[in-house]
Amino acid sequence: PGNSNVRVVVRARAFLQREIEKGAVNLIEMNPQTQETHLNPPSDRRAKGCERKSFTFDNSFFSIDPSAANYASQEDIYNSLGQEFLDHNFQGYHTCIFAYGQTGAGKSYSMMGTPQQPGLIPRTCKDLFERIDANMNPNVTYTVRVSYFEVYNEHVRDLLVPRRDEPYYLKVRESPTDGPYIKDLTEVPVRGIAEVLKWMKLGDKSRTVASTNMNDTSSRSHAVFTLMLKQIECHDGDETTERLARIRLVDLAGSERANSTGATGARLREGSNINKSLTTLGRVIAALAEDSLTKKPRKRDVIPYRDSILTYLLKDSLGGNSKTAMIACISPTDYDETLSTLRYADQAKRIRTTARINQDQVS
Ligand code: ADP
Ligand code: MG
Repeated sequence: PGNSNVRVVVRARAFLQREIEKGAVNLIEMNPQTQETHLNPPSDRRAKGCERKSFTFDNSFFSIDPSAANYASQEDIYNSLGQEFLDHNFQGYHTCIFAYGQTGAGKSYSMMGTPQQPGLIPRTCKDLFERIDANMNPNVTYTVRVSYFEVYNEHVRDLLVPRRDEPYYLKVRESPTDGPYIKDLTEVPVRGIAEVLKWMKLGDKSRTVASTNMNDTSSRSHAVFTLMLKQIECHDGDETTERLARIRLVDLAGSERANSTGATGARLREGSNINKSLTTLGRVIAALAEDSLTKKPRKRDVIPYRDSILTYLLKDSLGGNSKTAMIACISPTDYDETLSTLRYADQAKRIRTTARINQDQVS
């Protein structure tokens, strides 16, 4: 138990077909020995004296070129991050992994993936039930529940209920013991891998349907997939212990939304609200990072969690009872957005959280 820093990893995605056709140049180098990530300025910037920028993260995942010796596949990322976080869950810790980065940088690919190349969410589900099925201890039983919601335009939408013509949103409340929660959010019990994947796909479809109707909602919405794992252990006599772990997997809105430059007119009006959760997330991360730097006792009201729905709901994952990781997703060709993502990630490294084993004695 105790304090640990937010684990920050960076992942550079492969070139897209259209980037190859345009002859786009790779700006990213990663050193597998030191985990350093180097961002080289494009030639026009270099001519003006701009030098390469270097960052070190807990891991640097090079997914640009499958033939490279240090290439990181979906499986590699699960093995070095997802698996360990699931270990923590079985010990009774809450965890959160969130993907940050500009639209098109590989957030959804990393979290959800494709049917051929599943990402962290389906791999976590699969591993979770494999571990449960492998349990030979008759005194231990497990229950798993799943929920899936998105924050769009400062509203919470349940992704596990069918879409209606009328938009309807859920309310956020605060419980004195458990903190902020979403009232009436669907939480379904799941008994096996097939069931959980069915709900995962349903929720994802609900998100995608919206994106074709509403001008790319998925780049503007934050999707939060949650598994609640409860382990009940009966001891000799009548004593029972319960361990509860929350597994949170978050696909954030495109980070370019936080930089208001370029947005105009209707887009800006809509954007100002949509950006609120993302810009507040940036302020929360900056405040938490500064706290850890000054080492002064934390003044709780200084962290602006309450300023947006997302930060309010993820409060625990950002600065509280959780083991937390951030995957900074970057494109190999976009200098400005990549630099801004790497700086953001660099700041997140300084954040410390205090995870506890969530265990209760029930007799
Ligand atoms: P985001 O969710 O950040 O907007 P996506 O995950 O949708 O970005 O990725 C954009 C495109 O790049 C998709 O077509 C996706 O399949 C592809 N892609 C992303 N990451 C990788 C990767 N590591 N390897 C291969 N293709 C990738
Ligand atoms: Mg996406």
